[in-house]
Amino acid sequence: MAKEKLKLGFYMGAGCGGCDIAVLDIHEKLLDVIEVADIVFWAPIAADAKYKDIEELPDGSVDVGFYWGAVRNSEQEHMAKVLRDKSKILVAFGSCAVSGGIPGLANIANREEIFRVVYKETASTDNPEFVTPQTIYDDGGHELTLPEFYDEVYALDEIVDVDIYMPLCPPTPKLIWTVIEAVVSGNIPPKGAIIAGDKTLCSECGRKKSEKRRITKIYRPHEIMLDQERCFLDQGVICMGPATRAGCEAICINANVPCRGCMGPTKEAFDQGGNMLNLIATIFGVDLEEMTEEEIKSLMKQIKDPLGTFYRFYLPKSLLRRRR
Ligand code: SF4
Ligand code: SF4
Repeated sequence: MAKEKLKLGFYMGAGCGGCDIAVLDIHEKLLDVIEVADIVFWAPIAADAKYKDIEELPDGSVDVGFYWGAVRNSEQEHMAKVLRDKSKILVAFGSCAVSGGIPGLANIANREEIFRVVYKETASTDNPEFVTPQTIYDDGGHELTLPEFYDEVYALDEIVDVDIYMPLCPPTPKLIWTVIEAVVSGNIPPKGAIIAGDKTLCSECGRKKSEKRRITKIYRPHEIMLDQERCFLDQGVICMGPATRAGCEAICINANVPCRGCMGPTKEAFDQGGNMLNLIATIFGVDLEEMTEEEIKSLMKQIKDPLGTFYRFYLPKSLLRRRR
């Protein structure tokens, strides 16, 4: 008798669709996947399904559910819970699901501020009555509903229990295949496993590093001619490698682009952004704890967009979490 095929389900929350493309990037290996697994839904992109159909699946009937994107509204929260119930194993796929990712940067504002900018203040908006999305709208006797837009962005495990974490924005074909192969072979990683390296990215980066780093100025990558062999930090360009997990094969570094931190912090890291800020202060030859507020401000002035630099993919899971 033919072996029963595995059942996989994919769902995108608050994300950009890059993770959908990343799955397609495993190319012809998709044929191997289809050989052994049925994709029961891939919502809302490649194999859409009515939510009712997914809700009616028996609990635990999907072998592995993959959720990408963060959780930003009530529809995504509901679907995260449905996917959890239907899946034996739930994978937080990509930085947005693991730690809030780029959408998580919206935690520097609240819903009211976001609505004000989006539905009132942008130059192309003509909305004198400041009409904003309503969860229920009566259109002449027909009730229309919209998901509730939350005041903050959540990582997936703040909403439901997650079994496997696969960071990166988006995960590389190699990492995706590692998980799929593990599932297919029945060699499932233990609960809570992070499909990434344990060490920092610097450990898998081949650039020449100086023994004693000292810099006097911070540059943005376009402001200097970058030496492709030397460590970015030695050249005064912020690279999140020292505070970021290995496992991405240093793809950005190899393309002469400094690390932005999408793998998230290592297990030992206290706080990805905090660790990095501390390191920057050290290579400036200063001790953060001994600096006056003015000195800290002057250092920070050199760093354009500190929040986006140090917490780009991790704000909802960081110590800061959101603006208070
Ligand atoms: S992890 Fe990156 S590629 Fe995936 S949905 Fe989020 S922003 Fe897009
Ligand atoms: S800081 Fe960046 S460029 Fe320097 S060694 Fe680490 S990963 Fe490589």
